[in-house]
Amino acid sequence: MASARELRDAVRQRMSEEIGTLVEEAPEAVAFLYPSPYSVGMSSLGFQSLYRLVNQTPGRAAHRAFLPDDIEAFRSSRTPLFTYEGDRPVADYPVVALSVAYELEIAGLIQALELAGIPPLAEDRDERHPFILAGGPLTFSNPLPLAPYVDCVLMGEAEESLPAALDVLFGVHSKAEALVALRSIESAFLPSEGEDWMPPVAKADDALIPARSQILTPHTELRDMFLIEPERGCHRGCTYCVMRRSTNGGMRVISKERVLELVPAEARRVGLVGAATTDHPQIADIVEELVASGREVGLSSLRADRLNDRLVAALRSAGQTVLTTASDGASQRLRDTVQRRAREDVLVRAAELARAHGFKRLKLYMMLGLPDETDADVDELIAFSTELSKIVPLALGIAPFCAKRNTPLDGAPWAGIKVVDDRLKRLRKGVKGRVDVRATSARWAWVEYVLAQGGRAEGRAVMDAVHAGGRFRDWKRAFDELPADRPQRELVRPGNRLDRSQQQKRLRVV
Ligand code: SF4
Repeated sequence: MASARELRDAVRQRMSEEIGTLVEEAPEAVAFLYPSPYSVGMSSLGFQSLYRLVNQTPGRAAHRAFLPDDIEAFRSSRTPLFTYEGDRPVADYPVVALSVAYELEIAGLIQALELAGIPPLAEDRDERHPFILAGGPLTFSNPLPLAPYVDCVLMGEAEESLPAALDVLFGVHSKAEALVALRSIESAFLPSEGEDWMPPVAKADDALIPARSQILTPHTELRDMFLIEPERGCHRGCTYCVMRRSTNGGMRVISKERVLELVPAEARRVGLVGAATTDHPQIADIVEELVASGREVGLSSLRADRLNDRLVAALRSAGQTVLTTASDGASQRLRDTVQRRAREDVLVRAAELARAHGFKRLKLYMMLGLPDETDADVDELIAFSTELSKIVPLALGIAPFCAKRNTPLDGAPWAGIKVVDDRLKRLRKGVKGRVDVRATSARWAWVEYVLAQGGRAEGRAVMDAVHAGGRFRDWKRAFDELPADRPQRELVRPGNRLDRSQQQKRLRVV
């Protein structure tokens, strides 16, 4: 088991391999805590971008910390969780800012706070403890399960709200004062005050985007890749998606010139990241110019109906060997129902383009367990996948459907672990030997579903599950033991921006 010294040496070693680290000391230092391991946190565009933003503020610095890869080593060596840049305990900072991407990271948040020696429950903390500020992608759907653990949640895009919140937190003398002053921030949700209304998600000023990496590191899955968003949001309307057009006015496009000028000379690998990158009107130009400058390029979120000869050729010459897109519904009927624009002819064309340009395979993301899905939909998927696999080697990436708050499918029932597993079995059997099928666990998708649809009580149960060992059966027991009379459907989100007093009148518990 590693000693405290070895744990520190490992962090120093990691930092020595980074490019772009901002090692600043400043009177107003914030612990920037990511509740997953380093390799995940450093792949988060938001985490990286806000790290730069905070460090750019005179007198202020962000010092990173992550959930350790080896939690047990920190426990057994009694090493309190410490920051990378500051090399000091997270608990010594007046403010800990957390970015939470999705529901299951709440477990990491609890573990990280405990390793830092900070009581994870807000009700157990006092003035001796840091102020815990949370934000991140989870806030676009349902931040309520975070409520027991944090003092303030910044909803939505944080480029403006985070600096404003830090101005407040470094300008007050007590948490009580902070909670009053934070009310001036429209997107601040203050669960520790027992508020029962949900603010709107913030939309950052266009001048503050695009988000982009600050640090290049070899220790992520996207090794040494510079990430940048050529667009933010999506103008499409898939009814299961939090980032659909109703969120923050849909897609905001960054000009090709701006994207290219922001890519640093030393970045040899560039990842273009966003909800709908291929809907960018100049995406082929951007990829081609990056390739022409000798770079490898990766692109997230390829939409099948946007693929054409030119873009697929550019992606191939950018170093891609797998063409990845999503169709999400097992059958055309389901895709129509959820308003996913991925018709069979479009997917066939994607397979043909993949073959024509020498891709090793086509990878198709898909959901199982959508409302009204039947075995017949899975049979259609089997038949259609078989057809596609005759054109190009095919891999299916299956994720069980989890209804999210703040989407039209909010409140749709969970299909059931057994139903999802049975359909997956049927699919695997039907395409055996022809299509590679990879699936995420239906059990953990159920946990995600309970939290996605849940509130404070479900959030509180996460700590019981973590303390019991964090196995699936621990989560199940923790949820099973929740009182039946707990509040259901606790909050709704306002559809427009009203002032806080109006919202409080309108948005009492429903
Ligand atoms: S699933 Fe993709 S295409 Fe559909 S609304 Fe969401 S981001 Fe847009």
